[in-house]
Amino acid sequence: MKRLLIIAVLLCLNACTAESKKASNTVVDIVKPKPYVLLISLDGFRWDYVDKYKPEFLSEFAKKSAHLTSLRPAFPTKTFPNHLSIITGSYPENHGIVANRFYAPDLKKSYNIKESNAVTNADFYLRKPLWVIAEEQDMRTASYFWPGSEAAITGIYPSHYKTYNHNATHHERIEGILNWYKLPSSERPQLITTYFHDIDSAGHHFGQDSAELIAAINKVDDTIREMVSKVRLLDFEVNIVIVSDHGMVDYPAKNYEYLPTWLNDEYKVVATNPIVLIYDEGKSKRTLAETVAELNQQANHYQCYQYQDIPTKFNASKTNRIGDITCLTDKDWSIGFTGKTSKGNHGWSQFNTKDMDGIFYATGPAFKESFQLATVENVNIMPLLAQILGVDITTPIDGKLEIMKPLLK
Ligand code: AMP
Ligand code: ZN
Ligand code: ZN
Repeated sequence: MKRLLIIAVLLCLNACTAESKKASNTVVDIVKPKPYVLLISLDGFRWDYVDKYKPEFLSEFAKKSAHLTSLRPAFPTKTFPNHLSIITGSYPENHGIVANRFYAPDLKKSYNIKESNAVTNADFYLRKPLWVIAEEQDMRTASYFWPGSEAAITGIYPSHYKTYNHNATHHERIEGILNWYKLPSSERPQLITTYFHDIDSAGHHFGQDSAELIAAINKVDDTIREMVSKVRLLDFEVNIVIVSDHGMVDYPAKNYEYLPTWLNDEYKVVATNPIVLIYDEGKSKRTLAETVAELNQQANHYQCYQYQDIPTKFNASKTNRIGDITCLTDKDWSIGFTGKTSKGNHGWSQFNTKDMDGIFYATGPAFKESFQLATVENVNIMPLLAQILGVDITTPIDGKLEIMKPLLK
């Protein structure tokens, strides 16, 4: 049967007229199915949660998947920088979303994930997400939430996207995605992204050993089971890629160091515990070097840098969107002005610990089964997904296909 189809395609390709081309494409579709990728982000799912809490479905999914020991986030290990790193294949210093809240001196505007004006303003986003490149190449894409998906980056949105609604039920997300998959082949998105906040929220509020975190993991586990089961019933195969943006760790509330109040008087300060971004507005009589020296002299558990001097391993020294001065905190410590902390957090260095690491589990026609690779950086995911989708990367990225390619069949 397959041989007959191939002969039919070859004959048709020879003799096709414009009118019959559509029919021949359908035959080609049967011979070589279109690739599909469903990218699911479980915010704050630490690399070891499957081993530690043994959620029923995800444990099985992980075991059978092509996976990484852990997924290393970019710096700072926060939600928006890392979702953009995953989908643009670039470090925050290059894709421009350097924190969940920051000031962009180049635009003279502030970014804040809670402000619709900011997240929908394409000017903040300096590299193209995979959905933009795919749409440019005439491939349909959709997003049931993903940082950046509500902005027309270089003028292009995903074909379908939703305004972020923290309270959208899991059921709504599953149904929305399945409805997109039920569209006719020509309109059906080949790349869909989606996102669940629950595990991150429980990790922040209730901590590692809480019943609430376990309940959130089990709730998400049930949702993923339902979504994956329904997607597997479709009459085309989908590569399902489950990732997280960073890990999570409990830390003591007493580990809090106050910043001096003069800092707030002399500079614009964005304190996004545990990193602090300090912008020069010409008000201080001190030079930036003097301010750095003054802060570091009194610091016990943090270290400040002029942004160009941030250690190169962080890939964070290219743009003063991260502050003219940036203060990084020792792991398990907080800094700021309020003394307010949470039970768990992330945002610290991703080096010398695995606590900030996330997950990467993938199944589907493109992936090997039950195959493990060592820890890699999340900027390498985008070229892997582009390869599966057959999208040419036409824009600069930092990730490399070779690094995760061994996961592919
Ligand atoms: P973080 O402070 O890094 O833990 O950020 C996590 C929070 O980011 C979640 O609780 C969500 O409320 C928020 N978030 C995630 N995705 C989006 C989005 N697409 N738009 C707005 N907020 C989002
Ligand atoms: Zn997050
Ligand atoms: Zn978080």
